[in-house]
Amino acid sequence: MKLPTEAPIGLLGGTFDPIHFGHLRLAEEAHETLGLGQLRLVPAGEPPHRGTPRSPAEDRLAMARLAVEGNSRLAVDDIEIRHEGPSYSVLTLTRLREEIGTHHPLVLLLGADAFEGLATWHRWTDIFDLAHVAVANRPGYAPHGRRWPEVLSPELAKACEGRVLKSADQLRASPAGGILPFDMTPLAISATLIRDLLHHGHSARYLLPDPVLDYIAARQLYGGSAS
Ligand code: ATP
Repeated sequence: MKLPTEAPIGLLGGTFDPIHFGHLRLAEEAHETLGLGQLRLVPAGEPPHRGTPRSPAEDRLAMARLAVEGNSRLAVDDIEIRHEGPSYSVLTLTRLREEIGTHHPLVLLLGADAFEGLATWHRWTDIFDLAHVAVANRPGYAPHGRRWPEVLSPELAKACEGRVLKSADQLRASPAGGILPFDMTPLAISATLIRDLLHHGHSARYLLPDPVLDYIAARQLYGGSAS
């Protein structure tokens, strides 16, 4: 089969409150394993599936930019912060499609926990018309590829029927519609853990980049004195 020359564009959305090495390794390993041309980290403006973030959008954006500094593989896209209203992935992907056209392969990256909840997202089935979905393992969450479909909810299992790809090469064969589980180095890091550590005055060093920790300390985010 002749593959299109365009390497897929990957998108990792998140609250990034704050961004940490779990996000960054997911992005870095997805870039390599999935053969992506670019990878955009997209901080949510108003995340619709959870409470208000602890840090303002501008700080979460600034921390994401600091985190990828010096890494030409990763870029930060402020598309969800520029647009007012809830940051629905389906809207973000629609806007990106307006920017890149209908043919270029797009890959929405999700950790296993996010994929597990996909069927609760706004217009979630439309996402498959706009992008492929690649799912990374995450410690503590079951639904990784090798155990699909039995660990998925019935509606998600049904949506997966006929979509699960066997290799990253297949991402190039069409602009959207596939689901690909992939392995990353398991890292049991979460933003919740980091916020809790900082809030209680504990060190969060080596869970996230030093420049991000310095920013947190300078802006006195997350209410603690330690970094
Ligand atoms: P919180 O603890 O505040 O819920 P989080 O650490 O889960 O935050 P998010 O910004 O909600 O971070 O996550 C953005 C995306 O990154 C999601 O798809 C999530 O599954 C994924 N992700 C975050 N941390 C990890 C990790 N350690 N391993 C794999 N995927 C991760």
